[in-house]
Amino acid sequence: MKLKNYCPYCACGLIDKFMEGRTRRYCVSCAAPVYENPVPASCLVTVDPNDRILLVKRSVAPKKGWWCLPGGFIELGETPEEAGLRELKEETGIDGRIDMLLGVTTHSGKIYDTILMAGFLVRRYSGTPVAGDDADEVKWFERDAMPEIAFSSHKSFINIYYSAYANG
Ligand SMILES: [Zn+2]
Repeated sequence: MKLKNYCPYCACGLIDKFMEGRTRRYCVSCAAPVYENPVPASCLVTVDPNDRILLVKRSVAPKKGWWCLPGGFIELGETPEEAGLRELKEETGIDGRIDMLLGVTTHSGKIYDTILMAGFLVRRYSGTPVAGDDADEVKWFERDAMPEIAFSSHKSFINIYYSAYANG
């Protein structure tokens, strides 16, 4: 995990200071804590009429070469839904519409420590998937043939879909 070493407001070096119940990064010059929080991201469980789920094979770190759901970090000014659909388009080339929120959870990462992940269900989409940004491959997977999934949060949304919302 990489915590901030310098104040993002005044560029002074930060120290550790115990306050508000835990050790925090603190800027002596600003006389204020620099809070570290989970980073928000969205991912999509896109399903076809045969209950197959669309996965992308990652071409970038972290977890390069692993399969995961299409998704990524939420940009400033975006809703979680917009971010998910934008990433779906960028990574797979398809346009989707969100049906519902499957859940919100966290997973641990090496760069950001904690990722806050929203998972949405997409049943309506148009286009044929083609691997795009950050993806080496894009493929529909059946429930019984799921590869190992890169992120625990993504795996949990796939499980939620198959346990509660799948057609079969
Ligand atoms: Zn400062």
